Amino acid sequence: MNDLPLDGFPTMNENSAMVLLVDDQAMIGEAVRRGLAHEENIDFHFCADPHQAVAQAVQIKPTVILQDLIMPGLDGLTLVREYRNNPATQDIPIIVLSTKEDPLVKSAAFAAGANDYLVKLPDTIELVARIRYHSRSYLTLLQRDEAYRALRVSQQQLLDTNLVLQRLMHSDGLTGLSNRRHFDEYLELEWRRAMREQAQLSLLMIDVDYFKSFNDTFGHLAGDEALRKVAEAIRASCARPSDLPARYGGEEFALVLPNTSPGGARLVAEKLRQTVASMNIAHTMPNPDSVLTVSIGLATLTPGIGSHCRQLISAADKGLYLAKNNGRNQVGVD
Ligand code: GH3
Ligand code: MG
Ligand code: MG
Repeated sequence: MNDLPLDGFPTMNENSAMVLLVDDQAMIGEAVRRGLAHEENIDFHFCADPHQAVAQAVQIKPTVILQDLIMPGLDGLTLVREYRNNPATQDIPIIVLSTKEDPLVKSAAFAAGANDYLVKLPDTIELVARIRYHSRSYLTLLQRDEAYRALRVSQQQLLDTNLVLQRLMHSDGLTGLSNRRHFDEYLELEWRRAMREQAQLSLLMIDVDYFKSFNDTFGHLAGDEALRKVAEAIRASCARPSDLPARYGGEEFALVLPNTSPGGARLVAEKLRQTVASMNIAHTMPNPDSVLTVSIGLATLTPGIGSHCRQLISAADKGLYLAKNNGRNQVGVD
């Protein structure tokens, strides 16, 4: 705690004190000043005009206020309440200086928010001891508040960093789509949900046609660029927040479509196939003037109790195999 900088108190350590005495009598001011003059680390300010007291307190930020009770024009207890109602001064310890030991005045002072009560003029030893005690506990309070504030800030930073990390952990470096690991987790989750709700779950497996020869012809960098474009088309074909596009591996992609019928999935797949073809990415296969295309395998299942989502993947794989076998650039359904 000792090393924490105090907000607004750059030069103070926890043994320092900044005293503000508010008293209309200059004589009292002088007496207290003399009493504190030889004390190390105690700064002293005197305010003889009670109407200036709060403004002065806000400006000089005392660690203790010594407050006279009886002053012309403004009651000391009213001032105590004003310090308490001002956010800048509300926690500053207040030692009330009274002319007499009176239980009624004393309890009124504490009720107004004073922390301590001294009959003036107290002897210097007692005054210094109380100033130091209240000052230290105030500075400790400020340090604690500052530590909590810093803690909250670093907690927030940690949360933000975790979000970024999670996003990175879930995404594929080349395309920004979900990676295989996130796809596996998501499909498993949606499979179990569909099992509970007895809902239809659709899956598209999307594979770029003749991609090996694309790389061989145009180079791997052009290949990467083409994969990014295909990924963008897949991302754009997701209409619902629950649809999840992923890079399954290599030049193979997957699209999870929860709560989607075979007809709905077929529409998505067909539209995606056409979108990729209409991007007109030049290719030399299957003939020299071709464009890059994808084949899509489609499967829809309503999971049976105790079944595994591998079923859905292998059904979509079969659809993909059919699409490839039937000449590519088409949607295959097992
Ligand atoms: P098919 O129409 O039957 O799918 O033929 P294909 O050539 O696309 O299939 P094959 O599985 O033989 O080849 C896939 C190629 O995809 C081989 C590999 O070099 C390429 N590939 C996989 N990942 C990447 C990648 O991240 N970047 C690039 N540029 N190429 C990749
Ligand atoms: Mg007075
Ligand atoms: Mg391929």
